Amino acid sequence: LNEEIRCIGCGAIIQTTDKDALGYTPVSALEKGLESGEVYCQRCFRLRHYNEIQDVKLTDDDFLKLLNEIGTKDALIVNVIDIFDFNGSLIPGLHRFVGNNPVLLVGNKVDLLPKSLKRGKMTQWLKERAFEEGLRPEDVILTSAMKAKEMDSLLETIEKHRKGRDVFVVGVTNVGKSTLINQIIKNTAGVQDLITTSQFPGTTLDRIEIPLEDGKNLIDTPGIIHRHQMAHVLGDKDLKLIAPKKEIKPMVYQLNEEQTLFFGGVARFDYLKGGRRSFTCFLSNDLKIHRTKLEKADELYANHVGGMLQPPRQEEVESFPELVRFEFSVKEKSDIVFAGLGWVTVNEPGAVVAGWAPKGVSVVIRKSLI
Ligand code: GDP
Repeated sequence: LNEEIRCIGCGAIIQTTDKDALGYTPVSALEKGLESGEVYCQRCFRLRHYNEIQDVKLTDDDFLKLLNEIGTKDALIVNVIDIFDFNGSLIPGLHRFVGNNPVLLVGNKVDLLPKSLKRGKMTQWLKERAFEEGLRPEDVILTSAMKAKEMDSLLETIEKHRKGRDVFVVGVTNVGKSTLINQIIKNTAGVQDLITTSQFPGTTLDRIEIPLEDGKNLIDTPGIIHRHQMAHVLGDKDLKLIAPKKEIKPMVYQLNEEQTLFFGGVARFDYLKGGRRSFTCFLSNDLKIHRTKLEKADELYANHVGGMLQPPRQEEVESFPELVRFEFSVKEKSDIVFAGLGWVTVNEPGAVVAGWAPKGVSVVIRKSLI
């Protein structure tokens, strides 16, 4: 009775409880599968029938194993990041794991940034940030996984750098890796060409291979969960609201000292010292910004979170983490970044500000992007 059932596609042990983990299959599908004698996990099922990949998430340990394995291969590593959430996209220690393999950094979701931003400036900025993290990408390219035509230049760049090698695509969750791989699949292979390659039962190094012309493969790897993102404190509905979907319209605020901006009820920005000046907010156009006096901010939040200040919604307030404060003294034109939400650009040096985010979500300062 307790016999393990394995997916005939990838070999993962079938389970019906964790949607995001390996081997998940809905109970109804499992029953059907048992009748016909062919049990697939949902991921393999979708791959076979809809030509579509689904992201699976790995624990840190399993992800480390995966990275270690990649280091032993002769391959091009394509690291997909979300340019809207650079810090939240980083894979800690990636540079140590890739060994001597070249890395191509792919900044995804370029469609969200204002069109006025020059791509050259943006790639240069990404290159500098990558170097600061110890990553030495051979090349940096911007793309939008939403746009089929962007895939041509991405594939061309991959072709240029892979020099006959396999390609491993890595990234944390939410950067758009599945969207991107699906777009590539549409542009290149037919469903019959796709293979899942966890032939070793129980292995977590489960991945999807897209055959390339010379017999090599482009390999999709599972994403690692980055815990300091907004994605992990908000429900799916709220996440849809705060995650930008369209080109962001920057909002400029002239603030006096001791004024506060609330971003819905999920984050807060205090302007503490530095005379009257302007700040530019880069956030989802759907997220409401509310301005108030610093001295009234705590009370306003206590009274209106879940109401005027949403998300979180009323019924979520109780389980929503408290906001935690980070103070910054701004020495050069900088962005105060709320992981996974967006950022506020402090246009001139000399200001003292504070950013607040739900406990567990990071707020960091970085050299201004724009
Ligand atoms: P994964 O976890 O890395 O596989 O990420 P997904 O492919 O599931 O994408 C995460 C979210 O980002 C989804 O809501 C996607 O619709 C969105 N997304 C992915 N690529 C892009 C892009 O190029 N532009 C925009 N605006 N959104 C994107």
